[in-house]
Amino acid sequence: MNADLVIRNARVLTCDPARVGLGMVDRGAIAIRGGEVAWVGPDADRPGATRVVDAGGRLVTPGLVDCHTHAIFAGDRANEFAMRAAGRSYLEIAAAGGGIGATLGPTRAASDEALVAMLRGRLDAALAAGTTTIEIKSGYDLTLAGEQRLLRCIAAAGQRPAPRCVPTLLAHLVPPERVADRGAFVLEVCDQLIPRVAADELATSVDVYCDEGAFTLAEARAILGAAKAAGLAVRGHVGQFADLGAAELLADLGALSADHLEQVSDGAIARLAVAGVVAVMLPGACVQLRLPVPPVGKLRAAGVPMAIASDLNPGSSYCEELPLQMWLATTHYGMTVEEAWLGVTRHAAKALGMPRVGTLETGAHADLILWGCEDPATVPYRYGAATSLIEAVYVGGIARHATPRPVET
Ligand SMILES: [Zn+2]
Repeated sequence: MNADLVIRNARVLTCDPARVGLGMVDRGAIAIRGGEVAWVGPDADRPGATRVVDAGGRLVTPGLVDCHTHAIFAGDRANEFAMRAAGRSYLEIAAAGGGIGATLGPTRAASDEALVAMLRGRLDAALAAGTTTIEIKSGYDLTLAGEQRLLRCIAAAGQRPAPRCVPTLLAHLVPPERVADRGAFVLEVCDQLIPRVAADELATSVDVYCDEGAFTLAEARAILGAAKAAGLAVRGHVGQFADLGAAELLADLGALSADHLEQVSDGAIARLAVAGVVAVMLPGACVQLRLPVPPVGKLRAAGVPMAIASDLNPGSSYCEELPLQMWLATTHYGMTVEEAWLGVTRHAAKALGMPRVGTLETGAHADLILWGCEDPATVPYRYGAATSLIEAVYVGGIARHATPRPVET
């Protein structure tokens, strides 16, 4: 075989489920052809290639997968951050005009061009921190037409080759102007919005925010039922503040993921495990809102795969960097370094239903990171340093971000 590119003299962290643990291949090499991983193995056995990169004995990992973001929005809420830091309560902040409503106005007012440009800036920041696949939810317009507009802007921003963008329709809240007839609004979401989004292929899944102050369990059941009927995958924001029983609903529906889970019952954990639903941990938002930590030990014991995501949003987690979330997951949630790595690679890919990202095994997309360190633990250990630790990010076998560009011979 003659490969397009071989990265040699590397510690290749494959995250391949066919290998033990994180699937580390020490003194390894990886061969890329046609944008895919064509071979991984010992450096001594590497095939010939048109181009060769010497990794200098350092770490090569899959590109990171951010499986939960709200990256499309206008405006920011730095004032709320300051109020919260000064000890103001959620209700005081809401009374001062804070909360999701503070993002709704600027987002609705922004032009398509402005929204796409702001989203692209965040995608560039995510790529520089190693994210090669990113899920992006709508949800900051709330009207039927406006949510479709946000999904079209996501599609426009995602036309660039990197990172790979995965659009999700989020049933976030009942819009303030529809609170008086919320039943009719939910029906419109089910009967009009979801079928249109599916027909226009604007999203691959539907997410519902089922919690106190958001959609009820019955409303969530109707919305996710409509999503399944339209052929879309389902996921949910559940148990961030209160356990309404939505984790059980997601297990019953065979959801891709159940996200947040600060509040979740033992029975629901058992059902998530049986159904193979990924638990998405969002430690940035958890820490910023000073919420209790999800029951990581119980999720681990039950065998629920755990992913870690940024929850990038203007209210509770304005952060594009997954390595920072790995640090929070290991130091604050009690996850191991191995769990943190699987959480931003293979398990996050499972949460998106994308088997060809999140691992470096034969046939996977050649999305990978060259790191300026040797130990996988260094990435969460050197928190906040990801952009300086990363030497290059490849998507589909092509270097899309490099500092400086790696020397190819
Ligand atoms: Zn979220």
